[in-house]
Amino acid sequence: MAAPLDRLVPRLRPHASTIFGEMSSLATKLGAINLGQGFPDTDGPEVLKEAAIRAIQEGRGNQYPPAHGLPQLRQAIADHQKSFYNLDVDWESDVVVSTGASEIIQSALMALVDTEDEVLIFEPWFDIYAVAVDIARGKAIGVPLNSTNLRPDFTRLRDLITSRSKVVLLNSPHNPAGIVFTREELQELASIVIEHNLIVISDEAYEHLWYDTHPHIPISTLPGMFERTLTVGSAGKSFSFTGWKVGWASGPTDLVAAARVVRQHLSYVSSGPFQWAIAEGLAFPDSYWEDFRHDLQQKRDVFSAGLKSLGFDVIDSEGTYFVTTNVQSMGYKDGLTFCREIPEKVKVVAIPHSALCGDPAVGAPFVRWAFCKQIPVLEEALDRLSQLR
Ligand SMILES: *Cc1c(COP(=O)(O)O)cnc(C)c1O
Repeated sequence: MAAPLDRLVPRLRPHASTIFGEMSSLATKLGAINLGQGFPDTDGPEVLKEAAIRAIQEGRGNQYPPAHGLPQLRQAIADHQKSFYNLDVDWESDVVVSTGASEIIQSALMALVDTEDEVLIFEPWFDIYAVAVDIARGKAIGVPLNSTNLRPDFTRLRDLITSRSKVVLLNSPHNPAGIVFTREELQELASIVIEHNLIVISDEAYEHLWYDTHPHIPISTLPGMFERTLTVGSAGKSFSFTGWKVGWASGPTDLVAAARVVRQHLSYVSSGPFQWAIAEGLAFPDSYWEDFRHDLQQKRDVFSAGLKSLGFDVIDSEGTYFVTTNVQSMGYKDGLTFCREIPEKVKVVAIPHSALCGDPAVGAPFVRWAFCKQIPVLEEALDRLSQLR
């Protein structure tokens, strides 16, 4: 009998299993509360469900939509970039719709990165990044976030730049750290990117999920950055329909054109009726986004305060679905041990940062918790966690 992965090219074998698979199956087996995987446990707006159903019934989007996305959705994306960020993109040439943010990130990497080109990524990172770079035959270079406050460390970034550096894969608001890059941080990053003539793929999946006084700022709005930045968005995250898998990218014509070439040969098109629905969603009034943010902020507040009262060392979350704790204050040697033990002990599941790193030592003490769950679920999880003491 051949081993199950004998046929898989060696380069991709390290990516065969994911921490989410391991932790979610533990959660199911033990009946644990799953604060591991980041998806909301309440659906997005009813009107968008109705819009998708209407599109199906009226025969809109049931057959292949245009390759780069439904014109109505591309126009809505261009309008959204203009009204939120004052960015001018031409919906015809500067926007592309994809099967979730994931597909356009993969496409962009395959389009922009040649064999052995280096892609700089703040570490820990969103789990698909490293495998996406490996699929593109590039080299992922982890740039560790500061090990106490999880802020970006630009001295480290400068040290890691070589003549093969090609792309910075940026994510702000940041999954898993929960930080939102400040304008000063983005400016520092921009100056490095411009100095070394790099390209930025800016994953802004959580652009509307920022809290308090930590607004999301697209790096493409900084001087000299629009022309070197491909900006990625996700309807899954912006409308709480992660299963619909509608994403997009926008930016300068040349970067969008490059990504389009690969993307059209991956899924060709996707999500016809859902594209119609998301076009409506992007035209929602400001109150939608404010309520949305407020709702998640409340969940964050309940969960973060609860963790603190249990003695966890909490890195305050400024955005995303996630809050991070350092579990050494709870007497655990590292996050992986903690995450493997607590499902058995108290029936709660979380994700260790170390599993989201190229070098597991980087994220060792940290654990990521998803708070995009109903408040009673979060309270029940806190109650269970209180038995750890
Ligand atoms: C969820 C997520 C994505 C993927 O978005 P999809 O639209 O579901 O493909 C991309 N980037 C980050 C940082 C995410 O958390």
